[in-house]
Amino acid sequence: MQGYNVYEYVNISNVINQLHLKKTNQIGYYIYTLCPFCQREKEKNGYLKLNTINNTYICKNCQESGSSIDLYANLKYISKKDAFKMLLKDTPVLDNVPYVFNNPIKDEWYRDLVYRKFLDMQNLNKVHYNKLKNMNFTDEYIRNYQFKSIENNNYKKRKICMELQKQELRLDGIPGFYQDTNFKWNYKSHKGIFIPVILNNKIQGLRILLDNEYRLETENIWFSSNNEYNGTKAYNWPMILTETTRNWLDIYNSKQKEVIIIATEMILAHKLFNNSNMTVIGIPNNIDKDLILNIVKRMNASEVILYLDKYTILHTSNYVFSNVIDVLEKQNIRVDFRVAVSEKNIEMDTIEMEKQRKTA
Ligand SMILES: [Zn+2]
Repeated sequence: MQGYNVYEYVNISNVINQLHLKKTNQIGYYIYTLCPFCQREKEKNGYLKLNTINNTYICKNCQESGSSIDLYANLKYISKKDAFKMLLKDTPVLDNVPYVFNNPIKDEWYRDLVYRKFLDMQNLNKVHYNKLKNMNFTDEYIRNYQFKSIENNNYKKRKICMELQKQELRLDGIPGFYQDTNFKWNYKSHKGIFIPVILNNKIQGLRILLDNEYRLETENIWFSSNNEYNGTKAYNWPMILTETTRNWLDIYNSKQKEVIIIATEMILAHKLFNNSNMTVIGIPNNIDKDLILNIVKRMNASEVILYLDKYTILHTSNYVFSNVIDVLEKQNIRVDFRVAVSEKNIEMDTIEMEKQRKTA
């Protein structure tokens, strides 16, 4: 296997070519061929319809159906295991059809729908519950925002995906989900807690608060499945936490000059919001000055309190910091820095920040 991955060998487009099936048409990601099972030819497009994304086939006449490996095995009269081995031997010949590795992402309404149902099926274990309680989160907050432990048991993971599919939800285009080697839907395993990233009262994506630090750089990563078959890449979404009754357009078109809190990392943003009545913006902990500037301008902020977590302090260079300050101060926006040291200090800071907001 040189230069190719296993999915290219078992791709239905390669299987058709290895079997020399006669192609009659191609529409989007569907290929049509004459059906080798019933040999019926009359229909214009051919009866055998092959889905190059799901790697499945079905004959509209004789109802023969299955996966790409089934097709190869059935026509060669060999077992699936032997079919798999034989397919791995020859260099794949792929047609110029959309061969989707990473899916286009679903819109925010659909992601919100899937993630909420997905989180409903996850539990919060005792260790993670205690960890959240030590961060001063109330039970109500934990429940409302659906903080959950990530289920990593492979059998249970597949079952959860099947349940979602039974509810007629599609998992392609949802970051974190992908199809495994048996073309069954699954999701990425991580040890940690799901932290929903909210924007406009919808879950945009899931951030993960890891139990153990990841390569010493951070304890937070995205729930993402790029580079997985039929997987989807998460974006670097910002999060805006505010009263749910507050209209989103009003926040963005605010006439009132506001003091806003920007927190590097979602869990820190949730902590600050849980402790105060203020609007808090969460950004992933790699500071992106364009993202910050964009939010600040749209919200018409007069002052920004940039609240940093310890990972940002440790790993973001002075250059990036000064860049953020420069950019904001050029817009005549005052910038105040705070650093999250302990839960107590976060609590004290929020009280002070709220005072600041009221006098602004
Ligand atoms: Zn047929």
